[in-house]
Amino acid sequence: MATLSIHFSGTDAAEVFILRLHEIYDELKPLIFADVKMEKKTPEIKAKLAAQTHCHICEKLFKQGEKKDVDHSHYDGRILGYAHPICNRQRKTPKKLPILIHNFQG
Ligand SMILES: [Zn+2]
Repeated sequence: MATLSIHFSGTDAAEVFILRLHEIYDELKPLIFADVKMEKKTPEIKAKLAAQTHCHICEKLFKQGEKKDVDHSHYDGRILGYAHPICNRQRKTPKKLPILIHNFQG
């Protein structure tokens, strides 16, 4: 996970901090709410999927005849690989941005 550390000081630190939060939100909003359609399966992607023996999320071996979902990135539409349907549904893109605030006291 990427981290970003920003320090604010001065009498207007709270105001500057809130304004910066709004700017960060505006920058990340297209990514947070992206829902790009899955790319088309090229022959190379089809071959890669056909050779895939394990769920790309939990890394467990697929059982004979087991249903597989094609998982894709909602950010860019890229096919990530086959996954168990339950693994695919449980893999959620976080919609929250954790923010840690400390006043360097106590
Ligand atoms: Zn799985």
